[in-house]
Amino acid sequence: MKTKQESALFPTYARFPVTMVKGEGSTVWDDQGRAYLDFMSGIAVCNLGHVPERVKTRLLTQLDQLWHVSNLFHIPNQECLAQLLTQNSCLDLAFFCNSGAEANEAAIKLARRWQQSVRNTGRYEIITFQQSFHGRTLATLTATGQDKVKEGFHPLPPGFAYATYNDIESVRSLINERTAAIMLEMVQGEGGVNPAEPQFVTEIVELCKREGLLLIVDEIQTGIGRTGKWFAYEHYGVEPDIVTLAKGLGSGLPIGAMLGKRYLAEAFAAGSHGSTFGGNPLAAAAAVATLDTLMIEQLPERAAELGEQLLQELRLRLANNEKVITVRGKGLMVGIQCKQPVADWVTAMREAGLLVLSAGPEVIRLLPPLTISATDLQRGMDIICSVLNQ
Ligand SMILES: *Cc1c(COP(=O)(O)O)cnc(C)c1O
Repeated sequence: MKTKQESALFPTYARFPVTMVKGEGSTVWDDQGRAYLDFMSGIAVCNLGHVPERVKTRLLTQLDQLWHVSNLFHIPNQECLAQLLTQNSCLDLAFFCNSGAEANEAAIKLARRWQQSVRNTGRYEIITFQQSFHGRTLATLTATGQDKVKEGFHPLPPGFAYATYNDIESVRSLINERTAAIMLEMVQGEGGVNPAEPQFVTEIVELCKREGLLLIVDEIQTGIGRTGKWFAYEHYGVEPDIVTLAKGLGSGLPIGAMLGKRYLAEAFAAGSHGSTFGGNPLAAAAAVATLDTLMIEQLPERAAELGEQLLQELRLRLANNEKVITVRGKGLMVGIQCKQPVADWVTAMREAGLLVLSAGPEVIRLLPPLTISATDLQRGMDIICSVLNQ
């Protein structure tokens, strides 16, 4: 056996010098016993807080019964999950996978196949946006409108074009006889917490109708109650053809989903797409219990209320702060746009006991659990303001 001192992991992550060992509600503890208030929720994954009771109970029950069975069989938890997701959205059908990138892969494949095999248009190009983030697989990093994720990975798959976010003319100018779909985040997450303007979204929907394009909404970060609705598209009064989910869906168990309108079923006939683990009994159990909790505890409404409080109070307390340009967001997805890189302040907040994220170099991103108490929310805001007002 080789003797090794250093980590045996590929150095793909610039990790914080902290090791977390336990979580409960909005608090996590490191291996030194130090407690942190969590305003990142594992990047919008632990929307119910850490180790939520209903999810734990449902998982323990499933652990005793059956862990995995192939998608060649019926899986009751998966059927139940699909019912919950489609009853609470404008979509009719679900496909399950294991991550956000895979959900977007499914969406891209479905859009192409619908255009090519059902409508016989031969269209394949997907219009996405500058500063978007759609994942790290070859197709989804190509869909992503940020050069930094593409470096060194060429050649990239063809069939993507990039418009300017909130600029409808830039979208219009990219549409041609190859265009199959438009793919959009309603609030850009990794790209800096940028909400789409209502007028822009309305015009995108009109464009899609007129040109025969599918509208794919990437709700991987914004979905599952995060922005104050089940799905962020609901804020805009529009109906996407396809919605992708992952992060918050399983409360930490890996599961992704692609939801679509019923008329798309024909494009995804038996054998056209698949995933070994997608929607397996354990992951689906976690997701069913997550959605049950979302409904019982009315967490989207709670996120809307607490998010408004967070936004208003931060705006007030940071109004005269010379480091801060603006505070923006929807529900409990909030970004503090600063004038300079925020990495040192993120570190200072962690050292003061609060976990926050950045989104790009100059935005501090806040994604507290939707279950956070008013006291903890206040405590977090106090740390943010004391670090930024120093
Ligand atoms: C995180 C994220 C993804 C990628 O999800 P993974 O599970 O990391 O593959 C895609 N789109 C958006 C908007 C995301 O926030």
